[in-house]
Amino acid sequence: MDCSNGNLCVKKGIVSYLNRIWHASPISSKLNYFTLNTTLNSEPKFQLLKRYFGFDHFRPLQEEVIDTLLQRKNCLVLMPTGGGKSVCYQLPAMLLDGITLVVSPLIALMKDQVENLRANGIPAAFINSSISNQEQNAIWNQCWKGDLKLLYLAPEKLFSVGVLDTVRALPVSLLAIDESHCISSWGHDFRPEYRQLSQVRSYFPDIPVVALTATADKVTRKDILGQLGIPDAEVFISSFDRPNLSLTVLPGLERRQQITRFLQTKRGQSGIIYCLSRKGTEDLSAFLVRAGYKANYYHAGIEAEKRAKVQESFIRDEIQIMCATIAFGMGIDKSNIRWVIHFNLPSNLESYYQEIGRAGRDGLPSETILYYAYGDIMTRLDMIEKSEADEEQKELRRAKLNRLKQYSEAQICRRRILLSYFNEEAKEDCGNCDVCLHPRKRVDATILAQKALSAIARTREAVSMTSLVDILRGQRTAVTVKNGFTEIPTFGAGRDLRAEIWMDYIMQMLNSGVMDIAYDEGHVFKLNPLSYRVLKEGEKVLLAEAQTFRERRDEMMAAAPVNPKVEATKQMFEMLRKLRKELADKENVAAYIIFSDATLNSMVEEKPISPAAMMEVQGMSQSKWSKYGKQFLKAIQEFLRDKQSEGTKLNSGITQLVSFELYQKGMGLEEIAANRKLSPGTIAGHLVQLAKNGEEIRFELLMSPDKIKIITEMAKKLGINADEQPRIQPLMEHFGDQFQSWELRLAMGSVWVKNGKG
Ligand code: ADP
Ligand code: ZN
Repeated sequence: MDCSNGNLCVKKGIVSYLNRIWHASPISSKLNYFTLNTTLNSEPKFQLLKRYFGFDHFRPLQEEVIDTLLQRKNCLVLMPTGGGKSVCYQLPAMLLDGITLVVSPLIALMKDQVENLRANGIPAAFINSSISNQEQNAIWNQCWKGDLKLLYLAPEKLFSVGVLDTVRALPVSLLAIDESHCISSWGHDFRPEYRQLSQVRSYFPDIPVVALTATADKVTRKDILGQLGIPDAEVFISSFDRPNLSLTVLPGLERRQQITRFLQTKRGQSGIIYCLSRKGTEDLSAFLVRAGYKANYYHAGIEAEKRAKVQESFIRDEIQIMCATIAFGMGIDKSNIRWVIHFNLPSNLESYYQEIGRAGRDGLPSETILYYAYGDIMTRLDMIEKSEADEEQKELRRAKLNRLKQYSEAQICRRRILLSYFNEEAKEDCGNCDVCLHPRKRVDATILAQKALSAIARTREAVSMTSLVDILRGQRTAVTVKNGFTEIPTFGAGRDLRAEIWMDYIMQMLNSGVMDIAYDEGHVFKLNPLSYRVLKEGEKVLLAEAQTFRERRDEMMAAAPVNPKVEATKQMFEMLRKLRKELADKENVAAYIIFSDATLNSMVEEKPISPAAMMEVQGMSQSKWSKYGKQFLKAIQEFLRDKQSEGTKLNSGITQLVSFELYQKGMGLEEIAANRKLSPGTIAGHLVQLAKNGEEIRFELLMSPDKIKIITEMAKKLGINADEQPRIQPLMEHFGDQFQSWELRLAMGSVWVKNGKG
C-alpha cells in the first residue's frame, strides 16, 4: 500500500489536491491517501505530560479520556471550567500521528490556547476570521508539511468554501469539539454556526471525536451526542465541585465601601466585578480608578476593537480589575483570576457558577463574593416580565431565579446547595463558604413574624417590602401617611430594629414560607395558611440571627495574624510575579503564558535552588525550563539568600548554595571551609549534594584524580555500596591518617553521583 508509511505520499496527494482546489474546480472524490496510523509515539504518556505540560500527575479523568481516545473511541467530556479539558486532546495530539483539529467558538480562546501550546514547545496554529489570507496560506503549508500537531478552527471557518476539502485531505488523527454545548439549543449558549457540526461526522467518519464542555445538563448532553452523530461515545463526567473557590454571599449594602475594603487585601491580584448594567460597569470602574486602582470596564456596547484591547490588557495584568457585564469572560482562559465579585445578582445558578468559575482555574485558592439585595431580585423579575419570552419561558426563568434566591439566603452549606443543583451530592459541608465558616445562631423569631404578619393583614395584603419595613419601624413616609398605615396598631411595633435587620428577617420568613409574595401584583406580601397558624396559634418560627451587614462583613473579613515566614512567602510570590511580568512584556504575551500562578506557587512552596529541583516544579515543561528556568532559579536563589541573611531561613539548602558560589569562584575545598567557618567535611557534603542535584561539580579539581582512584578502588574491595550515599567509616578505618575524612567523602560522593546518573 502506498500510504501505509509514507508521509511523502500524503504530501504528494495534498499538493496535487491543493492545486486543484486553488483553481476552484469542483471536487467530488474524497481523497484516500491517508489511513490513520495509530501507532503511538513511543514516549509514554506520563513522560509527555511532564515534558510538554510540566505536570507530574493527571487530573481526575484526564488519563481515562486519553486512553479511550487512543483506542479510537469517541468521548464526551464534561468537566468544570479549569478542570483540565485541554490536556485531554492535546496530549493525544502529541501521541498520534497526523494532526488534531480543534473546533472552538471563540477567537480569544483559540489565540490563548495556541500561545500556551507554543510556549510549551508544541507546534500549533489557529485559523479564524482574524487571520489574513496570507497567514492562512502559510498555516496550510505548515499543515501539509506535517509541521503542526494541532490546528484550531472556528466552526464557520471549517465549513467555509475550500477549507473543508483542504482539511479533509490532511492526515487528521483526532477531532476535538470544544464548548460543544454550543451545538445544542437546549444549552445556555446555543450558537447557530455550531449547528453545521452535525455534518462533521459524515466528513470524518473514521476519526475519533472528543466533545468537551463545562456545562451540560442531561438533555443537552444527549443532544450533543445526537447532533454530532456519536451516540456511542463514552461519557466522562467529572465532579463539578471547585473546592478552591470560596463562596461568600454578603448583603448588598454599601457595596462600594465593601469592595474597597476587600481590595485592600488583594493588591495586584486580578479579579472581575460583574455588574448588571453597562452604566454600572462604567460608574464602578471610574470609582475604582479614582480610588487608585487599575480598573477598566467591558460591555457589549463598546466597539469591538476597544473591547479587545481592554480584554487584552486584563489578560496581560496591566489592568487589575475588570468591571464587566456578562459579555465578558466567555472564552477567557486567564488562569490567575484570584477573585470574582457579583456586584449584582446574576440571572440563575448556572450563570453564577459559570461566572465565578472564571476564578482560580489554576486550582489555587480564589475568592468569590455575591452581593445580594432584595432590590436586585425585583429588578431581575421585572426584566423577566418585560422580556419577549413566552409565558412558559418566563415561568422557567422565574423558577431559576428563585433557586438562586434560595441559595443566597441559605443557612446551610452553600456548596451543598450548588452541587445538588447540578445533580451532585456533597458528602459533607465544604468548610469554604460563609455559612460553614461563620454559621449564624438560630433565634426564636415568632414574635417578629407575628408583628410582620399582622401588619400585612392590617394593610389588606397590599404592601411590598419597603412599605412593610416603614410600617414596622414607624416611618412617616408619603406612602404610609397617604394610605393611613400610620393608624394601624402595628405601626412602629418594630422600631427597635434597623431597617436592614427587618429586611433580613422578612426575607428569611418569606423563604421559610411564613408568607407569600405576589410577583405579579407589584411584589406585595400575601398571607397563607402557615401565616395564620403563626399569627393565631403562635406556631414557632426559627430564623438565623440577623446581623447588620457591618457585623457580618467584619466577622468575615477579620484579618489573619501575621507570620514572618508567611510574609516572606508572599514576598517571594510577588518577586516571581514581577519577573514573570517583565518577561511577558518583553515577549509581548500574557503573563500566564510564561508560567501560571500555580507554577509560581509551586516554586514558592518548593523553593528550588538547583536545576533538578526546579525541573520538579509543577508546570515546568522542558521548553519552559530551557526558556525561563534558569532566570527564575537565579532569582529564587538570590531571594532566599537575602532572606537568610535577614534571619528568615526558608530553605536549609541555601547554605550549600553559598559553598557553591565560593567553589565557582575557584576556591579549594579547605579554603571554602575556612571562609565559611565550617568543617571541610561539611563543605564536601554540600558539594556532593549539589552535584547530586544536578550542579556541575568537577571533583577532580578539588582533589587529585589519583587519590580519588585509590579511594574508590579500595571501596570496591571493601564492598561499599555506592548506590546510596556511601558510608566512609570502613575507609577511615582502613586508611587511618593517609586521607582526610573530607577527601574520603568527596571521592565516594563522586562515585555516588556518577552511579546515580548511570
Ligand atoms: P478547562 O479547559 O477545563 O477550563 P484547562 O485545560 O484550561 O481547563 O486547564 C485549567 C488549568 O489546569 C490550566 O492552568 C492547566 O495548565 C492546569 N492543568 C491541566 N491539567 C493539569 C494537570 N494534570 N496537573 C496540573 N495542572 C493541570
Ligand atoms: Zn460550605
